[in-house]
Amino acid sequence: MSTLLEVSGVSVSFDGFKAINNLSFRIGQAEMRAVIGPNGAGKTTFMDIVTGKTRPDEGRVLWGERSLSLLGLSEAQIARAGIGRKFQKPTVFEDQSVHENLLMALQGPRGPWSVLFYRPNAAHLARVGELAAEIGLGDHLPRKAGELSHGQKQWLEIGMLLAQDPRLLLVDEPAAGMTPEEREHTTAILVEAAKTRAVVVVEHDMEFVRRLNCKVTVLHEGAVLAEGSLDHVTADKRVIDVYLGR
Ligand code: ADP
Repeated sequence: MSTLLEVSGVSVSFDGFKAINNLSFRIGQAEMRAVIGPNGAGKTTFMDIVTGKTRPDEGRVLWGERSLSLLGLSEAQIARAGIGRKFQKPTVFEDQSVHENLLMALQGPRGPWSVLFYRPNAAHLARVGELAAEIGLGDHLPRKAGELSHGQKQWLEIGMLLAQDPRLLLVDEPAAGMTPEEREHTTAILVEAAKTRAVVVVEHDMEFVRRLNCKVTVLHEGAVLAEGSLDHVTADKRVIDVYLGR
């Protein structure tokens, strides 16, 4: 699998404390990857670095076939380069319908008012329908996002990110606060999304990670502690000591 994202020798300190310590790893094109690890392992900081929110003190972050350096690019430039990020808390426009939320996402970052002045083209309208079907909200297009359940809002936000067609989607704890049925549906959405793009999921819920059925990277103290299948990493004594055995 050819490399889409390469993080190499990256370190970041906050007030002298090394939150990320010589971190290196690669994500392949259209790869699903789970990132796990104890609180404070550096998972959020890793995503902050890749999305340009935090600048590393050392190391390289290279993107795409042409190994473009992401360091020095703004968050907006990195998003435009094809990296989408889903935070834990859904950030949909509650007063707008599912249809409008997806349409706004397709138009790009212009603000909620833009939908009032915009005449959607046929391609965008067709794509809204496809996206709604992909996230399982095909029957909810006219509903206000604020009326959706927690799980449905999370799916809508994933749909809004997919609307921008990222080549890499970073997803922070997608299963948090979900019912078992919602978790199952979330798995299906992410597995489908990973057929055509890379998806990196930060998650604590091991059952959820198992369902993703992908390579797992265990972070600890800002570096990779173990990597491989879930069975491989969960049998690793170091992983049990620092994470699972707690
Ligand atoms: P995780 O997401 O795995 O729980 P984080 O990336 O949030 O871990 O944090 C890694 C370490 O860096 C933690 O010890 C955290 O307290 C510290 N840290 C993260 N961001 C900051 C910051 N802005 N200022 C100071 N310390 C930070």
